[in-house]
Amino acid sequence: MTNHPGQVDFLSTDAAVLLVQRVGLTELLRGLVSALEQDFSRWEDFDKTARLAQHTPDGVMELMPVADASHFAFKYVNGHPKNPQLGIPSIMAFGALMRADTGAPILLSELTLTTALRTAATSVMAAKLLARRSSRTMALIGNGSQSEFQALAFVGLLGIQSLRLFDIDAAATDKLIHNLQTQLPGVQLQRCRSAAEAVQGADIVTTVTADKANATIVSRAMMQPGMHLNAVGGDCPGKTELDAAILLDAKVFVEFAPQSRIEGEIQHMPEDFAVTELWQVLRGEQAGRQHEDDITVFDSVGFALEDYTALRYMHALAQQHQLLQPLALLPQLRNPKNLFELLLPPEVPYHDPAPTHCHAMPFQPDLLRSPSTALSLIGVPTDIGAGRLGAAMGPDALRVAQLGPALVELGCEVRDLGNLAGPSNQRKPRDAEHGDLRNFGEAVAWNQAVHDAVHGELDAGRMPLMLGGDHSLAVGSISAVARHCRDTGKRLFVLWLDAHADFNTPETSPSGNIHGIPVACLSGLGPRELTHLAGFAPALGPQSLCQIGLRSVDAQEKHLIKTHNIDVFDMRAIDELGMRETMLRALAPLADCDPSQTHLHLSFDVDFLDPEIAPGTGTTVRGGPNYREAQLCMEMIADTGLLGSIDIVELNPALDLRNQTAELVVDLVQSLFGKSTLVKNVQG
Ligand code: NAD
Repeated sequence: MTNHPGQVDFLSTDAAVLLVQRVGLTELLRGLVSALEQDFSRWEDFDKTARLAQHTPDGVMELMPVADASHFAFKYVNGHPKNPQLGIPSIMAFGALMRADTGAPILLSELTLTTALRTAATSVMAAKLLARRSSRTMALIGNGSQSEFQALAFVGLLGIQSLRLFDIDAAATDKLIHNLQTQLPGVQLQRCRSAAEAVQGADIVTTVTADKANATIVSRAMMQPGMHLNAVGGDCPGKTELDAAILLDAKVFVEFAPQSRIEGEIQHMPEDFAVTELWQVLRGEQAGRQHEDDITVFDSVGFALEDYTALRYMHALAQQHQLLQPLALLPQLRNPKNLFELLLPPEVPYHDPAPTHCHAMPFQPDLLRSPSTALSLIGVPTDIGAGRLGAAMGPDALRVAQLGPALVELGCEVRDLGNLAGPSNQRKPRDAEHGDLRNFGEAVAWNQAVHDAVHGELDAGRMPLMLGGDHSLAVGSISAVARHCRDTGKRLFVLWLDAHADFNTPETSPSGNIHGIPVACLSGLGPRELTHLAGFAPALGPQSLCQIGLRSVDAQEKHLIKTHNIDVFDMRAIDELGMRETMLRALAPLADCDPSQTHLHLSFDVDFLDPEIAPGTGTTVRGGPNYREAQLCMEMIADTGLLGSIDIVELNPALDLRNQTAELVVDLVQSLFGKSTLVKNVQG
């Protein structure tokens, strides 16, 4: 899974809980076991070190790093057995995942819950290799935080049917029984009075106690031939659970021997005490259990690779389930050498000179679009995403203003496909079940229809011109374009002409109107039904979008624009730079592009224009581009020769004067297709 440069995801405890609930604990553990098996099987790929530990009288604090060629991961974890008396867990953890090529962090995650999951999954991975297949009974000694996860993993994935429970704290066993009774209705739960009683008749013995001492939870005398010991609780110097005599008679398996010799049960044994690392058994290079009567011990201490696997696994799963939050952890810099820009007033970064790697695009009238362009007009008569009615009449107003004939006049081959059909606008209230958005189901239906129509025309080698409708429909059209670009290996670049950023998320939207959230949806934020129309998300990366003409942007939107590193030329930039310089900079990322490998999509909201010249739109904001500026903007887009698809949205004839806005739009669209005011190039 890849992040955009600078994008850091956050997986909170709440999100991890939701993920477990959505996927189901057993299924999640099953996937995690398989991911662990895969990573342990490529053992030599990892740069491994024993963890770094700082000991205090009551506990330990540890850092656990590991890396392969693609990622670096670390976990911070503590172990303070007396913490529950203070009302906090013994074990608390968090961790991060970094890309190895750039070192950029991509995920900061809770790891307290995830540690319990990965520890249980690792126990299962070991027991699959080491315990007798016929194992049905497990003793579970130590009934604290980890115990439910161990129990559920062994029951769900290894067929354990009976659990024998013991803890020196009877209340811990009460809690475990209570929790397991609802989760494991068919499983026999036996409370025992001692560890010895719990071990009797068990096929597998899991010890998961917490005491900073060399304890003897299980003695040699308690062991029976054929038992498998899953010793989880002994995991740092001076903190062990087993009678050392057990190790002498057993076959002992560890995660990473150099670390286990310091921290595991084998700290009691000489340096050359024979152990087998799990990966060797997984790959069939060393034997696991050889006889039914063998006593096997998995001396678990918890190794950084397990957290690496868990971080990557949970990250991918949380992305699928849209449970990640963006984290503003890294500075978003337009010029990576200008850290100081963070301290400048917020408007200044937008006005910075173009980064040095961008070239201003020379004025290229010879690149005017070929007159044989095959255009398909797709009417989308809905205002389902807007706050007021009227944009549904936009397609017909454009037809009345002779859009089709005006383009034919310029030599285009035009097919008007008529209007798409979709649900009517009942103007429903906000719907808490669907992100507190209005008309959610209807908007999804319309966007799906737009997606399919636009994608069909692109597949047929035609240029779709979507006649909206409100701006929520850009989710459908741009998702289709993104899908087409991915299928054909083209680079997508979207120019978004608008007075608004349309970058609210369902959570931040003040109105719940979906025409305020399309950029967020296209950036992967929002309900899955809208973010995944392309079949993947996000449809648009930050390098693929440039917004021009903004002048009404909410604070939350400004934040998202920054964190998503989106290029913005607001009205102040246009005032200061002029439209020509603005467009040169906006189009600079397309300089030197191979036209056969590049697709430029224009999403043109009519409220981009100054209301003086374009009153026929629902969300006018004073101070937009005037006629000449708008025309130059369109001509310079045409000059790229890269235009591949267009949205025209938010034209509202109900608010217009004698269809003048529609006529202006037709005029401007003509400029996109070669109608030029150019008589002589100013550059000679
Ligand atoms: P916890 O404090 O929530 O629970 C520990 C339980 O052990 C408590 O209920 C306590 O009463 C009980 N206990 C202590 N001494 C006992 C004894 N002599 N006999 C029976 N019960 C006893 O801790 P937790 O989060 O469940 O963690 C348990 C242990 O697992 C800790 O030692 C922790 O360091 C270890 N751990 C290991 C790994 C790993 O990968 N190997 C991962 C996570 C936790």
